Amino acid sequence: MFCLCALATPARAADIPVPISQIRPLVEWVETRMNLMLLPRPAIYISDTAIQRLASFDADSDGTRKIGAYHSGMIYISSDYWQPGNIADDSVIIHELVHYAQDIGYDTYACANAREYEAYNLQNAYLAQHGERPIIDADDLAALAHCP
Ligand SMILES: [Zn+2]
Repeated sequence: MFCLCALATPARAADIPVPISQIRPLVEWVETRMNLMLLPRPAIYISDTAIQRLASFDADSDGTRKIGAYHSGMIYISSDYWQPGNIADDSVIIHELVHYAQDIGYDTYACANAREYEAYNLQNAYLAQHGERPIIDADDLAALAHCP
């Protein structure tokens, strides 16, 4: 279980911006669940170069498929992966939107695990709401609930 969100990666000219209108239902879902308006709206890019450096991994895969990443107000999605409307793909955006909400919100987090716990918990909730299996199982999620 990884979500590496620590390396600075500014948007590049080759990155393709995703119009916020394309993910509005996802933004609104996170706003409702976190009781927080996501304002200003996050910047979202299709960017494989950023993904290569800011990698989060699909817990259901072999651990190497790079899907999405978040850093400093910007969300990056892999062009190979994201199919808008695909529940599993959209759940990755949910996860990254939670990280954005964490950055603009007032809550404080004791450690990186606490941020990941919240993000994976809401990602699981989004998947469950749509009848899909969790991205992370209960034991791994519980492990994230505690700071090292
Ligand atoms: Zn994460």
